[in-house]
Amino acid sequence: MANIGVLIETTDDNEVKKANFGVITAAGEGEGNEIFALVINSDAEACKEVVQEYGVQKVIEVSSDGADLSSSPGLQAMALAEAVKNFDIKVLFGLTSAQGKDLLARVGAILNVPMVLDCIGVNLNENTATKFHFAGKTYAKVRVTGDLWICGIRPNAIDARTSSCEAEVISWQAGVQDSGRMKVTEIKKGETGQTDLSEADIIISGGNAMGSEENFKILYDCAEVMGAAVGGSRSAVDNGFAPHSMQVGQTGKTVSPKLYIACGISGAIQHFAGMKTSKVIAAINKDPEAPIFNKCDYGLVGDLFEVVPALTEAIKRG
Ligand SMILES: Cc1cc2nc3c(=O)[nH]c(=O)nc-3n(C[C@H](O)[C@H](O)[C@H](O)COP(=O)(O)OP(=O)(O)OC[C@H]3O[C@@H](n4cnc5c(N)ncnc54)[C@H](O)[C@@H]3O)c2cc1C
Repeated sequence: MANIGVLIETTDDNEVKKANFGVITAAGEGEGNEIFALVINSDAEACKEVVQEYGVQKVIEVSSDGADLSSSPGLQAMALAEAVKNFDIKVLFGLTSAQGKDLLARVGAILNVPMVLDCIGVNLNENTATKFHFAGKTYAKVRVTGDLWICGIRPNAIDARTSSCEAEVISWQAGVQDSGRMKVTEIKKGETGQTDLSEADIIISGGNAMGSEENFKILYDCAEVMGAAVGGSRSAVDNGFAPHSMQVGQTGKTVSPKLYIACGISGAIQHFAGMKTSKVIAAINKDPEAPIFNKCDYGLVGDLFEVVPALTEAIKRG
């Protein structure tokens, strides 16, 4: 039996991100382990109500008397590292998101322990994690040695399973002091105002073929009737058709929605690296030889400027 930690991420509206649930499920795989949710800068009681449905037994509300933890990721990492030691956590899980990659790596460096990111499977009995390599061309099973390690899970790559229990909230103070060397003064929200891509069940993405920012409107219209979020390829982003926060791929976001619809996207390996774990992939492309057709579950050869509006109208009609 071991204590397993899960770093919980919340949305801008302070809600527990759905993507955490698969991470908690992964953390609960080992027999008899106790799951600790580590919460910083969010409402631990509200978090408890949600995460206990997935098997979390203890919710640790991490704060510090000597520092405002919201003011710097460095301070958060120091507090988390202390919490890991204090609660004798053997594996610290988190999301391989922008925040997770930053915080988990900092905690790993402070504790000087091994870390594996972008995992799509974990075996806590063997201390192994499965992750993609080389932009998704291969995957490897990594065996970790040592008493403590850190594991970042690809958002939504592991299906969440409910395992209801009654959790307890523990308020815990880290002995972190603010040296004043770094302070986050402002966080700018993304321009789109849409759901975070890693939280979306359906994503409709546009590529270079969109041709302009204005043309993305047909994707937003379709997304609205489907309850989807809109993403883009790097070419679409580099050409200024969509903001970087919408980029899917090796140098963008990693997503695993239930349905991913690629519109006018060729299917380059770097794009595929970010969406290959989607449960169902559909592609619309006017070139029947486009590589995306070798990688999708459903392919439609056609002009996206005809297909997407027709799809929107069909969904509206029900
Ligand atoms: C280190 C590195 C990192 C990278 N990271 C990323 C990343 O994170 N994400 C990413 O996406 N890319 C990334 N790339 C770039 C990647 O290699 C491709 O260049 C890029 O994904 C291509 O984008 P695209 O498919 O939108 O454009 P194109 O390759 O230009 O493809 C456009 C497609 O649209 C089709 N098309 C044209 N008109 C229509 C129409 N009217 N209707 C339907 N289909 C149409 C064409 O047949 C074509 O298949 C990276 C590259 C490198 C080297």
